[in-house]
Amino acid sequence: MISDSIKRIEELLIELEQQKESENKARELRLELTNVYAKIRYGNSGKREGKAIIDKNNVEELFDEAIKNEEFKVFYQPKVNLKTYEPNGAEALCRWIHNDVIIPPDEFIPILEQSSKIEVLDFYMLDHMCRDMRKWLDEGKRVVQISVNLSRINVGQERLLERIIETIDKYSIPHSYVQVELTETSTELGFDELKDLVLGLRDAGVSTAVDDFGTGYSSLKLISELPWNVLKVDKSLLHEAERTGSSEHLMLCHIISMVRDLGMECVVEGVETPEDVKLLKDNNCFMAQGYYFDRPISREYFEQLLDSFNQQRIAR
Ligand code: C2E
Ligand code: MG
Ligand code: MG
Repeated sequence: MISDSIKRIEELLIELEQQKESENKARELRLELTNVYAKIRYGNSGKREGKAIIDKNNVEELFDEAIKNEEFKVFYQPKVNLKTYEPNGAEALCRWIHNDVIIPPDEFIPILEQSSKIEVLDFYMLDHMCRDMRKWLDEGKRVVQISVNLSRINVGQERLLERIIETIDKYSIPHSYVQVELTETSTELGFDELKDLVLGLRDAGVSTAVDDFGTGYSSLKLISELPWNVLKVDKSLLHEAERTGSSEHLMLCHIISMVRDLGMECVVEGVETPEDVKLLKDNNCFMAQGYYFDRPISREYFEQLLDSFNQQRIAR
């Protein structure tokens, strides 16, 4: 089974080399390559993405032990530059590996957000992401900027900004390599605290992103009054915008140009098809994240992905 997969990887690498000219084909092959790697890592070891594996009532009970045992893993989903098709960044996404099953964040984050435990998880993720980055820097690898999600529930917590900076500094990571993603809020509640945090991060040289823009109550005040570096358009808006002529299509085009005019960068999430890519490129948006390129992958596969791009660079 593994030898079949290895043989297929070898074939794909040869094909990839031969197909350098054709960017579409190369992308498809790279996607298949990632999937074959993922199959070796998780398919054959019996791990699978699972739903409802944990009883929702048990999450809080299991959490402390799971943190202690490092059951939470940082997965990385590349953010791809649509001019070069290289991963220019990534988002750190949490996976809970419990009893050999990968549990996706929607299964436990909403529960942890009801208590102070989400703060523990968010700092664990930031810490482990910085630890990975330190390893890559020590190994002389090219490191891309990585974003981490910070639950809005944390905003307003004592010494939040200082603790974020202390965690990054613990590993001596250049601040510009880290981005903090925050979601918008439906109310004015906590706006001043959010503003202080975003200003503080900006002053410290840490990048900030508004996450999931286009869902819920997207607020123009939120983006006009705070110095965000990046606005991330939610996948639901992109998927609605696929219908040319729909109001969502028009909105997406205008959001992209507004974000650019405001001096921010626009990243669109949920890119799944060549049509999505074309829609973004036609509107001069060149940063994309989505299954069309890569799913969130384990640290090991992310390292291999970055290495393969670095080798291509050296070869050029
Ligand atoms: P998010 O921050 O908006 O992350 C993007 C989500 O979209 C991820 O789901 C990702 O796997 C998914 N996605 C990416 N590309 C595509 C695509 O092409 N199609 C579709 N259908 N989905 C795509 P995931 O990993 O399940 O995470 C869900 C949410 O859980 C995240 O949404 C984020 O809000 C939250 N989350 C994940 N990790 C953490 C964490 O460490 N801390 C906190 N506070 N929240 C986290
Ligand atoms: Mg996010
Ligand atoms: Mg998002």
